[in-house]
Amino acid sequence: MIVHNAQQDIIFDLPKHIKKVGLKLSGGVDSAILCYLLFKYISEERTDLTVIPITIEKIINVYHFKFSQFVIDFCKKEFPDVKVTKIQKRQQKEQEDHFVAHNLFLKQLKKEKMFDCHFLGITANPSDKVIFKDIKNNIYSHEARERHKEKMLKPTKLGEIYISHRPLINIDKKGIFELYQKFNLLDNLFLLTRSCVSEDSKITSNFEKHCWHCWDCLERKWAFKNPENKFDLELNNV
Ligand SMILES: [Zn+2]
Repeated sequence: MIVHNAQQDIIFDLPKHIKKVGLKLSGGVDSAILCYLLFKYISEERTDLTVIPITIEKIINVYHFKFSQFVIDFCKKEFPDVKVTKIQKRQQKEQEDHFVAHNLFLKQLKKEKMFDCHFLGITANPSDKVIFKDIKNNIYSHEARERHKEKMLKPTKLGEIYISHRPLINIDKKGIFELYQKFNLLDNLFLLTRSCVSEDSKITSNFEKHCWHCWDCLERKWAFKNPENKFDLELNNV
C-alpha cells in the first residue's frame, strides 16, 4: 500500500514471512495515524497479520495507556477484520529514562518472540526556520525538545537486519495533519489523541487536557491549528 503525502510517500509492503507486527503506541497523533494506516494496509492486503500494540506509561504524566486504548478501539471499529492482541503494557520505573524504558521493553518483547517486526511513529521536527513562542514570550526551538536528537537518525527499513520500521521519520506534524485531513480523521481519531508532556496535573485537569505550554502542545497547535483552542498562544514563523 502506498499512501501519498506532500512530504514523503508512505509505503507498507511487509515481507511474507512476517506475521506478527508490533506497534508502539503513545496515545499521541503520530502513532495514532500510523496505527490507522497499518490497520488499513492489513485490512486491504494482509489479513494474515496480527497487530501487537505496545505502550509505555510514564511515571508522572499518566495517560498513555488510556489514550492508546482509545486509538486501538477506534481502529478496530474501522477495520474489524484486523487481528489485534491486547496492549502490551509496561509502567516506567522511578528514575528511569523514558527512552531507555522504551528500548528495554521492545528488547524484552522481541526476546519473547512477541513480534517479527515493529513500527514506530517517530516523525520529523519542523524545519529550523520554525520557532514557537508562548504568551510569556518564551521561545521554543528544536533545542528545547527532548526528541531533537532523533533528527540525526536515518530512517530504517525492514529487512533481514532491521526489524524496526519508522515510515514517518521524514514527515513533520504538518504532514501528519495532511494525513488526518486525507482520511477524514480530524473529527474522530484526532480528538482521541493527546500530545502533552506537561507533568502538571492541575493545568491538564489530571492529564485529560492539553497544557498548551509544552513543546509538544505548541507543535500540535502549529500543525493542527489547535481545534481544542484553550489558550491563546502566539505562533511565529520567522
Ligand atoms: Zn502540553
